[in-house]
Amino acid sequence: MFDKKFAESIAKLLKTKYPDPKTELVHENEMQLAVSVMLSAQTTDKKVNEITSKLFKKYKTWEDFANANLTELQSDIRGVNFHLGKAKRLIKAGRVVTAEFKGVLPDTIEQLTKIPGVARKSANVIIQEIWNKAEGIVVDTHVTRVSNRLGLTKNQDAVKIEKDLMTQIPKEYWRNFSGAMVLHGRYVCTARKPKCGDCVLNKVCPSAFKSGGTLTAQAGG
Ligand code: SF4
Repeated sequence: MFDKKFAESIAKLLKTKYPDPKTELVHENEMQLAVSVMLSAQTTDKKVNEITSKLFKKYKTWEDFANANLTELQSDIRGVNFHLGKAKRLIKAGRVVTAEFKGVLPDTIEQLTKIPGVARKSANVIIQEIWNKAEGIVVDTHVTRVSNRLGLTKNQDAVKIEKDLMTQIPKEYWRNFSGAMVLHGRYVCTARKPKCGDCVLNKVCPSAFKSGGTLTAQAGG
């Protein structure tokens, strides 16, 4: 079913368009990045940035989150979706990072996912953004949609999609591919009106000028 040459050609094209993709979550250090990633589940980066611009003035270390008052923290992150549960997990995360990792984030998926609130996708993002290396491929809603349109998977489940992608894409591209696919899905291969006319993949994509049927342009890209 898999065509590794096709998959690699996609990865190469994306790299020419997005040579150094970075997260749009505003952060100044590792803790801020990890907290922002945890808050970003089911919430836009824009909303998270709005909340964290105030939050990080008050909570500056993992210890600050470990010692936070739950009701106060819930109020401080009101505005992100599922803020009640996220506040609980942030406090637990603060305690785990402080107690088990001496306040320093570990750099493997296995250890990162021991931190409450950090699932595999978040761990992938954290590792790629902080250490610029990849143990896996980030699969969010954008990567799910674009991967299906490109025919790189037929799955909707993130674990299965990541497996499909890791099977086809050479590991040297995983870091770039993850960041590029997120940005590509957010700004070009959008859910309702993919901009196929502006897309660097439009000569190879099996869904070009088909997906949604409401495309913006018909010229190459
Ligand atoms: S050609 Fe269109 S459907 Fe295919 S990846 Fe590009 S924007 Fe998405």
